[in-house]
Formats: sequence, C-alpha cells, structure tokens
Amino acid sequence: MELTGRSIIGFKRGESNVGSLQGFNPATGEKLEPSYHFASTAEVDAAAQLAAQAFSSFSQTSGTQRARFLRRIAENIEALGDTLITRATQESGLAEGRIRTETGRTCAQLRLFANLIEEGSWVDARIDHADPNRAPVPKPDVRSMLRPLGPVVVFGASNFPLAFSVAGGDTASAFAAGNPVIVKAHHAHPGTSELVGLAVSNAVREGELHEGVFSMLYGSGNEIGVALVKHPLIKAGGFTGSRSGGRALFDAASSRPEPIPFYAEMSSVNPVVILPEALRTRTEQLATGMQGSVTLGAGQFCTNPGLVFLQAGPEADAFATRLGELLSGSAEQTMLTSGIRSSYQNGVSTRFEQTGVVTVMKKTAEAGCGAAPALFKVEAANFLTNASLSEEIFGPTTLIVTYADREELLQLVHSLEGQLTATIHGTDEELSTNHDLINALEQKAGRLLFNGYPTGVEVCHAMVHGGPYPATSDGRSTSVGTRAIFRFTRQVCYQSFPDAALPDELKEENSLGIWRLVDGELKK
Ligand code: NAP
Repeated sequence: MELTGRSIIGFKRGESNVGSLQGFNPATGEKLEPSYHFASTAEVDAAAQLAAQAFSSFSQTSGTQRARFLRRIAENIEALGDTLITRATQESGLAEGRIRTETGRTCAQLRLFANLIEEGSWVDARIDHADPNRAPVPKPDVRSMLRPLGPVVVFGASNFPLAFSVAGGDTASAFAAGNPVIVKAHHAHPGTSELVGLAVSNAVREGELHEGVFSMLYGSGNEIGVALVKHPLIKAGGFTGSRSGGRALFDAASSRPEPIPFYAEMSSVNPVVILPEALRTRTEQLATGMQGSVTLGAGQFCTNPGLVFLQAGPEADAFATRLGELLSGSAEQTMLTSGIRSSYQNGVSTRFEQTGVVTVMKKTAEAGCGAAPALFKVEAANFLTNASLSEEIFGPTTLIVTYADREELLQLVHSLEGQLTATIHGTDEELSTNHDLINALEQKAGRLLFNGYPTGVEVCHAMVHGGPYPATSDGRSTSVGTRAIFRFTRQVCYQSFPDAALPDELKEENSLGIWRLVDGELKK
C-alpha cells in the first residue's frame, strides 16, 4: 500500500499545504518518507460537517451492522500484515514482538466491542409500564436506554501506536456506541496512522456506511487538535498523553459555549506498597518483578510503577541494592520520540538534585533516543514536603520511599494524587490486617492489584483503566474494557410513545432478546 502523506476526510484525501512533518525512526535517527501535510482549518470543518451528516444514519444502525463494521476494521488491519508491523516498528522504536502483540490486542479489542453490541444488552434498556389506575395520578409509560452522543474526536497516543491510536480503544468504543470519529493523528507515528486510517476508511466503504463515519487529520495539537475540540459539531473527545496536553484540551472542551465531555488519560505514578513480611520473604522475586515492570517498553507505560513504598530497615536497603543491580544490567532501549527522551532526561536530572534524594543507580544516558534506567530513594519526611517527587517521570525509573511505621505509610498514601493503579504486595495475613491501607488506596486509584505488577492491562469486561484526577479528567470512566462504551453515550427517555415508534430495544416484544429492567425486574 502506497503512503500518500495526506489526511483522510471522509472518502477524500487532504489537499492543504499549510505545513508538514515526517515520520522519524528513533532507533536510527532516520527520517521516514513521505512528508505528512497538515490539515487546514477548512478541512477540520469539512471533516466535522461530514461526521455530523453521518451521525443521522450511523446512530440508527443496528448493533449487528456496527459489529460487522468493527470486525471488518480488524480484518483490514490484519490484512496489512508485515507492512504495518514494519512501519510501526520503525516509527516507534518498539520491538517487533511488542508491535505484533499490540496489533493482536487492537483487533481483539474491536472484536470484543463487536460481540458486546451484537448481543445488545449494553444499552441498559429500562421499561416502566403505565398504570392508568394509579391514584392520585395515573402513571405514564416510561422507557429509556443509552444512545450515542454525536461526532467524537480521538487523539492518538504516542506510546501505543495501535491499541490507543487510530483504531484503538476510544475509536472502537465510540464506533460501537454509534458515533462517527475524527482522529487527530499523533506526530510520532504518521505512517502507521495512515495505514490504519485507510483500513478503517475501507471498512466504512465496504460496509456502505456514510463516508463521514471516519476521518483522520494530521497537524499540531495546538491548531488542529484545539480546532476539533472547539468545533460546535463535535460532541465528545478521548485523549491519552501528557498532563499539560490533556488538561489544555479538557479546558478547551469545558469552556466551549456548549461544553462537551472530554476524557483525558494523563498522568499516574502507580504506587506499589510492599508490606514488611512480603519484603522479608520475597526480596529477590520482588526486585526481579519490579525491574521487569519499570523497564517494560522503556518505561513508557501509563501504568509504569513510579513509586515503591517500603518500611525502612535492612530489608528495604537490600531490596534497593538488588533492584539497582538488576536495573544496571537491563538491556538498553529506545524511547518513542526525542521529545519524550529529553523530558525523561530532565525529569531524572531534576530528581537527582532534590533534597534527601539518594541515587541508588543511574546509568549514563545513551545517544539519540536511548533510555538509561535510574533508581532513587528518599525518606517519607522528604517525600511529604516535596510535591515534585510524586510527579510522573515517563520512562524507566522509579523512586523508593521508606516509611517508619504504618501511620506514616497511610500519610504517604493520603498525600498522593489520583492514580490509574495501586499495588499491594503482602501475605494474605498482611492484607487482612490492612483494611485502612486498602481503603486509602481505593480512594486514590481505579485499579487495585495484589501481588502483581501494574503494567499489562487486560482488555476485558471488568477492566477499569481510569482513576481520579490527574490520572484522568473523569474518574467515573474507563478507557479499556467494554465499559468504555458508556463514555460516548447519554440516556434518552421515551415517555408514552406508541410501540411502533420506539427503538427496537424498547419495544414490548423484545425481538432482540436483550436483558432489560422491566418494572424493576431484570429479564429477557
Ligand atoms: P502529548 O504531548 O500530550 O501529545 C498527545 C497529543 O495531544 C498530541 O496529538 C499533541 O499534539 C496533543 N497536544 C499536546 N499538548 C497539547 C496542547 N497544549 N493543546 C492541544 N493539543 C495538545 O503526549 P506525548 O507526545 O505522547 O508525550 C509527551 C509526554 O506525555 C511524555 O513525556 C509523557 O510525560 C506523557 N505521556 C503520558 C502518557 C500516560 O499514559 N500517562 C502516555 C503518553 C505520554 P502534537 O502532535 O502537536 O504534539
């Protein structure tokens, strides 16, 4: 497939020449052809107009029709084969195996949503039958269900060129619910975005859907991104990236004359608490596990464990020394972009200078986009008085914080901002005597793990990949798992409607055979 370097606007390609960028191989420093031309503001408007037109018909498609569409996208992505794997590997510096796994995950995610909407009960249909004899006033017939919002803008993430990008989780859930999508492609992987964008666009054509169901634009976040979020025809947004970028776009979405929901996943340090007995009996196993989790994907995961809480003492010292040795022996890795690499370098250099921070190990930085792990240690008293120590450093580093006793551990947890995950390592006995710790962590994080590592997010029905601010802009939502479909929906109620005029999901007959709450009872 030949790459053109042009935005995708419905079934047409962008034509503007207002600026351009090229893909870049962070492993070799080589620029990749072709140049990608930025969309103009007129093209932003054209994509939004098309999406709004498409919404009328796409929002009325059945779950079966949209399931077919999602499966077709997955098939088209798989058909790209090694062309996609090669380009994504070149643009991200990630290992081929990782890109293959991520491609599989992306397609599995699309198929998971296809299964969900084909079954259909996700719409949360509720029926309260009329009671004309109710005194003192008759009860009307009231029925409700979830309906799509309208055109959604999705910002592709740098660190998941496939699973959180053009046909990633936000796009899959927005489509599943019946919303057209406009993607703002991430500058770190323009070619990967074009390949996947064409796979989606072809699925729109093959499904005989309105061309406005999908568009994808190249350009800067400050211009194209903000213009999309502020466009009056856009009704919601999804984002994964930095705290500053997510917050700026969330603020733009909230300050519109008509504010819209904007789901930004931003910043998380994913604390890991290792309780004393686990630390004493499993030092080697825990150090090995932490080393794997800290360095996975060059530490470029939103669930990377950036803080480890240990009770001060010889066991904590032994753990720190061992983790330092293991990190020193870690293979060198390449970071996604030179910008991410320089943020990492700055973060590590700044941490090194903070009062009370001890550098357990810090390897010399590699040339180009190379990532060198770093391990720091600090006492709770210093951590509690320096907010910068709880900030995310995106890359292969972590900070060990030692506490004196249980009370100080709780103080540490209470001092934290919102997180995607929080992990406890301990024995069953330790867990059962630490309810206050579990309660404190539950207030801070979207996912609690026991005796595991936060990296690696299962895509399934029960998954929660979200958390209180600044982990996300809305801690009530998840960006992974089938519950993500709810972020791009709203409840609509039909009162005293004739049966024939109701959506199939709410008709008396229940021809779709879905689960519904009928007069307070869940039934098919
Ligand atoms: P980013 O800078 O936030 O960029 C993500 C997207 O948002 C890009 O499309 C970008 O546009 C746009 N954007 C950024 N700032 C914006 C602003 N002020 N107004 C409008 N649009 C804006 O994230 P990144 O490039 O992926 O990585 C940079 C840093 O983000 C990393 O060093 C890391 O700290 C953090 N990060 C965190 C996570 C996480 O899951 N926690 C994931 C990835 C990255 P442009 O194309 O113009 O840049």
